[in-house]
Amino acid sequence: MSLSRYLLQKQPFVTKSFCYALSHDQLSHAYLLFGEHGTPLKETALFLAQTILCDHPNPLADEECIMCQRFVSNNYPDFIFLDGEEESIKKDEVRETLTLFQNTPLERKGIMVYVIHLVENMTVEAVNALLKFLEEPNDYTYAILTTQNEDKVLPTIISRCEKLRLVLTPRSEVLQEALSLGVSQEDAEILSCFYNSGEILKTVAAKDSYQKMKTSLVNGLDALSRAPNFGRYIFEKEITPLLGNKADALFFFDMLTQFFRDIVAKKAGNPISLGSYDTIIAEAAEKLPHVESSLLSIMTLRGEIGLNIRIGLILAHLVNILTKE
Ligand SMILES: [Zn+2]
Repeated sequence: MSLSRYLLQKQPFVTKSFCYALSHDQLSHAYLLFGEHGTPLKETALFLAQTILCDHPNPLADEECIMCQRFVSNNYPDFIFLDGEEESIKKDEVRETLTLFQNTPLERKGIMVYVIHLVENMTVEAVNALLKFLEEPNDYTYAILTTQNEDKVLPTIISRCEKLRLVLTPRSEVLQEALSLGVSQEDAEILSCFYNSGEILKTVAAKDSYQKMKTSLVNGLDALSRAPNFGRYIFEKEITPLLGNKADALFFFDMLTQFFRDIVAKKAGNPISLGSYDTIIAEAAEKLPHVESSLLSIMTLRGEIGLNIRIGLILAHLVNILTKE
């Protein structure tokens, strides 16, 4: 399923209101797209930007015209994307964008679009620079901002944007959709905890980096229950090198959290989400000490990622916590 089909089927409200405005020449100059963790927030924001620039939207971007082709190949000078997912968006980045957008558009389309993904991850200075721009938009400029946490976005930004809200699809539906797309049961179970679209889940499942991380995590967890020293070895020698950037490290901790939620559930006799790993989860529930407090520690350590603490140290600390009697 393309993103277009996803939006038409799963996000009818967002799609209808946006496409109606586009076709009636009533687009707002700024949108704030809200979606919980797991919704394809970034992908949707980019696709709506592409739709604005598309020559023949139908009602969303047709993905065929020359504008669409240039957009997806990052070859459209009047479009800018600032991504707050990896690290905070700084004032200079916003200033650069705004300076560029004060010129007239370079392209015949005569429209400029910028996307700021996760506005809550902007520095205060960057937000102030953005506010000025949102207050006095050019006729030809459109902004699509996204957030996972509306409470962390300044009310002055929210009030200047039209709000669009992505809704969550039930996990069971996402899982079935992924299976029907040929994703393995194991990957569908794990990734449906984090991704709210079967199509996106399939893309992630196909990534070598995810497969390596998953295999090492499962091996590491299995070893921790049966031979803690070997578990430590896996965490230090196999897993640490796989977590080279913040996004990978965060995702690893998210997966580990999910496994530990299941281990705690198993211990309490409750149903688990990752049924394919029932044997490993049952073994860990039986052999690992104090799994409830370990789960809390994992969540706390996740919050420390990105505070310039080396990931190797965090993992070593983690193994100590998980195995200490
Ligand atoms: Zn197009």
